[in-house]
Amino acid sequence: MKELDSGKIHLNLEEVKPLAEQALMRTGCNQENAGAVAECIYQAEQHGTHSHGLFRMPGYLASLASGKVNGRASPKLATPKPSLLAVDGDGGYAPLAHRTLAKPLAELAKSQGVAMAALTNTFHFAALWQEVEMLANEGVVALACTAFKPALPPAGGKDPLYGTNPVAFSWPRKGGEPCTFDQASSVMARGEVMIAAREGHALPDGAGIDSDGNPTNDPEKVLKGALLPFGGYKGASIAMMVELLAASLIGEQLSFEAAAQDNNDGGPPRGGEFILALDPAHGLASSEGLFAKMLEQEGARLPGDGRRAKRDGIAKNGIQIPAELYSKITG
Ligand code: NDP
Repeated sequence: MKELDSGKIHLNLEEVKPLAEQALMRTGCNQENAGAVAECIYQAEQHGTHSHGLFRMPGYLASLASGKVNGRASPKLATPKPSLLAVDGDGGYAPLAHRTLAKPLAELAKSQGVAMAALTNTFHFAALWQEVEMLANEGVVALACTAFKPALPPAGGKDPLYGTNPVAFSWPRKGGEPCTFDQASSVMARGEVMIAAREGHALPDGAGIDSDGNPTNDPEKVLKGALLPFGGYKGASIAMMVELLAASLIGEQLSFEAAAQDNNDGGPPRGGEFILALDPAHGLASSEGLFAKMLEQEGARLPGDGRRAKRDGIAKNGIQIPAELYSKITG
């Protein structure tokens, strides 16, 4: 740790996990839960997805301190139907549930061809590429989505109804890292809008509207108004699908129900996650043909590779976080 002249704190990458883990344990997590969340934060920082790294720590800590989240959760698995893995997150943060379900879900998908995990009673505050890549690394194709609190209006509306509802997809590759995309249903993730507000940056056109429904580039106004879905009504339909799969289908709260129940302590609301796993069978050889054709085009790359390209630089140079954030984490 080094305090810079800019007032920011410089951290080497290897300092991130212990920093997060100690703060989580101090605030009520046992080793298993703290380790899973801290590893998730470490991976986010390692890949440059800072909006889901240490930036989230005050929220993680607030929901432990308020007693909303169970820091000693022990996720429970059941198989009520042959290809359905029901996962009760025991009121804890999602990363431990992901680590608990990954191998059994992949095994189920390989034996049944297709398997679904219905993760309920959990608190998801992270980027979804981690869980779908965990499954791809077990040799299965994975698709996951989760709802949150209202941030996006339905097409034609102006009031938030859907969460920013991310969808992540990962395809395993022989001898290489999986091909993964992970995208919010909004033009921008809410975390990025919060960072823009904190750092005083304007948002790109089309990212959001103010509370009267007028387009604005001001992140503060968007946080009080609504983010917009990507692709207009098409993104709104994806956000609606996520509500239906990650809440209605699996028996969890819709975003507006989650918001009504939430204590607004700064952490995530209780919710669920829909995870689909598929046995790729003979599809892996064919997919390499597609990837090769994609990469023949100048300027094209595989989703996921942009994130991975940041790893070497971050491992070498470390990261910088605001001093205020560092103080909140260290208490
Ligand atoms: P981005 O718009 O930054 O990226 C979306 C995807 O597009 C990434 O997989 C990215 O890959 C890929 N991509 C970007 N540019 C290209 C390109 N030129 N060619 C090919 N692929 C490309 O992400 P979002 O802002 O939409 O998502 C933010 C994050 O927020 C996600 O991780 C999501 O899971 C998380 N989130 C979590 C929520 C929760 O409740 N837990 C709620 C909402 C969002 P690459 O990474 O390689 O650039």
